Amino acid sequence: MTEPTELLPCPFCGSKAVASINKDESLWSHDVVDWTRVHCTNDECNAQTEATCEGYEPSAIEVWNLRTPQPVVREPLTQAKVVEAFCALPHQVQFITAFDQGVRFAERHHGIKGGQHGTDT
Ligand SMILES: [Zn+2]
Repeated sequence: MTEPTELLPCPFCGSKAVASINKDESLWSHDVVDWTRVHCTNDECNAQTEATCEGYEPSAIEVWNLRTPQPVVREPLTQAKVVEAFCALPHQVQFITAFDQGVRFAERHHGIKGGQHGTDT
């Protein structure tokens, strides 16, 4: 696998991560090779990977960059946010939206089934 060039921020505290390389004996030969360990730069966090040597899969960098998909957090919709979103629309769209809402209101008020004045919502 190709080595990624960038380290993602620490998954625990969001701080910058760095890769440290030390020379030591290979797992497979008596050659001295690079051993890589990735760790968080926040001293109070101390998150780190195991050290891996050349040829070890997955590498410490690949392990560090593993992430589970993050859940989408949505703020609750408030009337102020609806107004803000409406005001951000182009005026033509505001007019069409307001007209459509007015038609729906009139339909409900007169007990008319939705969609008789256009597409149903
Ligand atoms: Zn951290």
